[in-house]
Amino acid sequence: MTEVTFETIAVKRKKKGVINLLGRVMLGLFGLFGFMLAAMLILTIIGIIPGMAIMASSLLFIGIAFLDMQEVRCPYCGKKVGVHKRAEDFECKRCKRTTLLDWQ
Ligand SMILES: [Zn+2]
Repeated sequence: MTEVTFETIAVKRKKKGVINLLGRVMLGLFGLFGFMLAAMLILTIIGIIPGMAIMASSLLFIGIAFLDMQEVRCPYCGKKVGVHKRAEDFECKRCKRTTLLDWQ
């Protein structure tokens, strides 16, 4: 039986108020704008690839703005991943590896 070990990263929990209400609204609007732009790009078919990329980052913005989310970096491949502040671990969207979170 092989033992599966996961990488654990220490993450500083950002205090509430780092992003104030105005910041959240701006981030949310930016995310919504990006989302609409991405939807239009995807509809043109030619723009489907950049459209998907913009949509993914827009959703991340919206997530940070409206949910209690924070960006962390995958220790395996370096991809930035949005995680919920109560999440115990996350699976990287790119490399599919699980990382445990040690909130501080
Ligand atoms: Zn990764």
